[in-house]
Amino acid sequence: MTKAGIYIHVPYCKRLCYYCDFHFSLNLKTREEFVSAVCEELRMRKDFVAAPVETLYFGGGTPSLLKVEELKTIFSVIRKNFVVQPWAEVSFECNPDDITEEYCNALRDLGINRLSIGIQSFFDDDLRALNRRHSAESARNAVKIAQKVGFQNITVDLIYGLPNMTVERWKQNLAEVEKLNVQHLSAYSLMVEPHTALNTFVRRGTVQLPTEESVLEQFNYLIDWSEQTGFEQYEISNFARNGMYSRHNSSYWTGEPYLGVGPSAHSFDGEKRYWNIAHNAKYIASIKQGIIPCETEILSLRDKYNELILTGLRTKKGVCCETVKTLFPDFFSSFEQHKKIYLARELLQEQNGNISLTRKGIMLSDAIMSDFFVTE
Ligand code: SF4
Repeated sequence: MTKAGIYIHVPYCKRLCYYCDFHFSLNLKTREEFVSAVCEELRMRKDFVAAPVETLYFGGGTPSLLKVEELKTIFSVIRKNFVVQPWAEVSFECNPDDITEEYCNALRDLGINRLSIGIQSFFDDDLRALNRRHSAESARNAVKIAQKVGFQNITVDLIYGLPNMTVERWKQNLAEVEKLNVQHLSAYSLMVEPHTALNTFVRRGTVQLPTEESVLEQFNYLIDWSEQTGFEQYEISNFARNGMYSRHNSSYWTGEPYLGVGPSAHSFDGEKRYWNIAHNAKYIASIKQGIIPCETEILSLRDKYNELILTGLRTKKGVCCETVKTLFPDFFSSFEQHKKIYLARELLQEQNGNISLTRKGIMLSDAIMSDFFVTE
């Protein structure tokens, strides 16, 4: 293994977005202790990744709730305990409301070179309906401030399939992205997760979701739009201009090792998966006692195969047939069988020995992937 990544989960938010099922807390009182615990976990796990670090990612929660001094402390521990390549991609998720010129300058000075700004929609009524804490205007301003400060790698997030969203409004959202001149877009279909406020609203009938047909139309338009505007769809939900893929997320899809630090963070060493406890106070208490509060799972050959299918088929590059043959000889005949069926139905295409989803196939991706999975 020649490269590795580090993910830091910052488990705090100022508000609960109604659709969110990530781990976070609205109680910011433990923030200082959290920073100390993260630093300690980084020290304790400094040998987890043997290879030099090529990607660092601050996700959450809301990393932009951390103060500059707190970030400085975390960065100094990372640089002391890990080899971070000078060309590393250092990504940082921000809420538009937290972005000021001063904060952005400080982020840049710390070595952060990629900002991920959670916008979700450019309509204030959508933002209110989702309980986001920023407005459309502050989202536009955040991008402009980041650009003024010199960030040349900015990604924004949008959600389609929102309650009451029409194709027309979705088109307007994408037109705004184009105007902002950013390098990357992540566009997700709204998922109504159990245990979210949104799920309750939908069940009670107080929120109406668009029809499946309309969501499909929005997704179709997204692909048309990306082709017209030079955003390459390199993964089902991710679009980049000029090859500016998310290197950190791409490494998840290609099975590279990464260390995840903080409550609920996941790690992978090539053989095993680890996941930290999703509870801030318990996480902090355990680290104080010198114990990493994580569970572990050894991946079976079948798990690894299914993961290769799941992550590979989500990408434009697809799944390498030779890799399947070499690494998973027992599953190769089943793989070939499904491949043949889906090539004939033009839901898959084969290029340079790799299979990937066609546009028609992307619309049915979940069903195709689960057909490929080996279950026993
Ligand atoms: S800011 Fe992000 S992590 Fe926090 S509640 Fe909203 S969607 Fe969830």
